[in-house]
Amino acid sequence: MLPRRYERSIAWLRRDLRTSDNRALFEAARDSDGVALAFVLDPALLPDGRLGSPLVQAFFTALRALRSELRARGSDLALLEGDPAAELVRFARRAKAEALFYNVDYEPAAISRGERVAAALRAEGLDVYAGLDHVYFGVDEVRQHDGAPYKVFTPYKRRWLDRRAVAPRLPFPSSEALEGRLLPLADVGASRAVPTPEEYGFTSSAAYPVVTQRRAYELLERFTRPGGGIDRYRERRDEPALGGTSKLSPQLRAGTIGIRTCVERAFALLPSSDGDARAGIEAWLGELIWRDFYQMVLRVWPHVASGPFADATDRIAWRRNDAEFAAWCSGLTGYPIVDAAMRQLNVYGWMHNRLRMIVASFLSKDLLIDWRLGERYFERQLADADLAQNNGGWQWSASTGTDAVAYFRIFNPVAQSRRIDREGVFVRRMLPELRGVPAKYVHAPWEMPPLVERASGIVIGRDYPARIVEHDLARVRALRVFSQAKASARG
Ligand code: FAD
Repeated sequence: MLPRRYERSIAWLRRDLRTSDNRALFEAARDSDGVALAFVLDPALLPDGRLGSPLVQAFFTALRALRSELRARGSDLALLEGDPAAELVRFARRAKAEALFYNVDYEPAAISRGERVAAALRAEGLDVYAGLDHVYFGVDEVRQHDGAPYKVFTPYKRRWLDRRAVAPRLPFPSSEALEGRLLPLADVGASRAVPTPEEYGFTSSAAYPVVTQRRAYELLERFTRPGGGIDRYRERRDEPALGGTSKLSPQLRAGTIGIRTCVERAFALLPSSDGDARAGIEAWLGELIWRDFYQMVLRVWPHVASGPFADATDRIAWRRNDAEFAAWCSGLTGYPIVDAAMRQLNVYGWMHNRLRMIVASFLSKDLLIDWRLGERYFERQLADADLAQNNGGWQWSASTGTDAVAYFRIFNPVAQSRRIDREGVFVRRMLPELRGVPAKYVHAPWEMPPLVERASGIVIGRDYPARIVEHDLARVRALRVFSQAKASARG
């Protein structure tokens, strides 16, 4: 056996709350006789108002599950609280660690936090290793022939697939590989209990996704077994009533499952699949590649975190209308598909992808309200809130991003609703007040003739809101404002 380089090291976990297929953890265990796992609660992240209850609950639940797993194995999770650099230096001294291993994160604030921690621990005499873990391919691994980053998804995807064919990233070993390497409880030292969201002023809800390593693997298992969803993903993924997607996004956000595990599971199914099943797997892989793409965009062009990717769209004359924004947030726009989607978000801390596109288009085009307000709102309401994906999705929908939807392609919320929820099953599930409205009118209840309205048991404007805008007029307004912005950028 090769000699271990370190007697003791620390694996600093951030968005990788799992013991299987975790690069930093695996490398720490491989190179050390004993590893202590640490997570730092950084109160500096709390007051800026960006974090929301579903994400905080997701992280705390995942931390609690991780601690239980480690305790069952005779070790513990060191839960530190304060400035990460100062806390990890203190912890390294206590644990007599010689090295720190962590996985990088492409968010601008996380990069600087990582650099500060690395500098502080190096100054303390520790070796520091930062590995790539949260994406399948890193920012420099999928580039154009001249080395430039891709701005358009399809060629990026092609290159990504070519690269995967020659250099697959196999998952790192599962948690059993840590056997005999976890520092015993006494050496990790006592640390605080995992807090409840309420301790930090957030709320909890049993309706939010349960985010733990075990749950993540169950979801992947269920989704990828025959008949489990992946094989019909292409036909079913756009219909919110069917639940035809994996629901893995909150798990990938907290890192209770690794991206390599997901990607390689899909590839493993390909040789034995054809027809619709193959198309489903390929479509699902395409979404995982979008995830890498948006992570790359954020890393290469960090300015997207605060403004549009495309400069011209900075000139759009966004409307300021607090009442309409509040109606959008609370699901009271009068457009059932928009309202049902926003209620799904507000209650469950998650929203179906097609619905995210519809409500984002509605806010940024129909209401002409700055997409950044919607992005912020999503950030506070989603259990999978992720700067790269959320920003990418919003800039795509608002036509301000790289490879975004053309500004003149504006989603018609009624036509979309008829297409993806024909019988109104999803709309009625989220908006019980529309239960009595016939399928013919459930997508546009303002069209109900008075007799039908009376029979449906609701009064529009009293029991369910009247439309806050007329889509046809709003569309014309959006086209005018977007084309003016374009023209003024050109001139
Ligand atoms: P599946 O359909 O099973 O897809 C598997 C995985 O692929 C997802 O878990 C996700 O990691 C990735 N993925 C799927 N669709 C996309 C996509 N369009 N772009 C990038 N990655 C994708 N996703 C987030 O994880 N966090 C966000 O904060 C987020 N905000 C969004 C905001 C808007 C306006 C839009 C349009 C999309 C956003 N998405 C975001 C992408 C997408 O909506 C979710 O990832 C998806 O709905 C998650 O459901 P699922 O896990 O069942 O996905």
